[in-house]
Amino acid sequence: MRGATTKNMRQATRYTPAPFSEQAEFFVTIDFDGTINELDVTDAVIKKFARPGWQEAEKLWEEGRIGSRECLARQMALIDVPLEHLVEYACTHPIDPAFPDFMRLLREAGIPFAIISDGFKPIINGILAEAGFSDLPVYANDLLEDASGLKTIFPNTSGVCQSGTCKCKTADLLAEGLPIVHIGDGRSDFCISRMAMHVFCRGKLTGYCVENEIPHSTFTDFQGVQKALETFLNGEALLSLKQNAA
Ligand SMILES: [Mg+2]
Ligand SMILES: [Zn+2]
Repeated sequence: MRGATTKNMRQATRYTPAPFSEQAEFFVTIDFDGTINELDVTDAVIKKFARPGWQEAEKLWEEGRIGSRECLARQMALIDVPLEHLVEYACTHPIDPAFPDFMRLLREAGIPFAIISDGFKPIINGILAEAGFSDLPVYANDLLEDASGLKTIFPNTSGVCQSGTCKCKTADLLAEGLPIVHIGDGRSDFCISRMAMHVFCRGKLTGYCVENEIPHSTFTDFQGVQKALETFLNGEALLSLKQNAA
């Protein structure tokens, strides 16, 4: 309860930086696999449930000969297990324990955000529900289950990227001109990182940011991202970030 005790009141008001709560200064986009969830759950589900043959698609994707859209469509077509079982298995891989606090920071500071993933919405929503979240904005690929099995649906594709979910196009539509601060770890984050004001990165994305001179900080978990954002929110650090991006 907000304001129930003095201690709670302090916690509840801690993230209310006046200058930015009235008008958002940036839009935060967050990857799911390997970022909110330390493990790449999409990968884990495919490895666990797909019939042999998924490795060929993976190889073509790794060599850059097909995009993730085609790779995921081929791999998911090799899964004969009910969606419910996939979600159940995915839920055995919990999210970063610091993520709920990070969500609280964004909401209390009035910073708009979205989870944009090249994984599958029912799996992501299942894992988030397990962590107590039922109302987060998630943009991802989808799965339709009917008598013949699972079908992949890609509602966020673009003509410029071969990803299942093109994060740069999706963010462009969502952010309505606000600068993007992106948090991610892998190849699906490359396109959005090119347009970001700042990137929190780990894994393959770090090398990409270095090579392309994208303003970035590495992170190990959401506690670290939160600390960095709290620093931005005091104004000066945010300004210096903007200068770096310019
Ligand atoms: Mg990822
Ligand atoms: Zn893109």
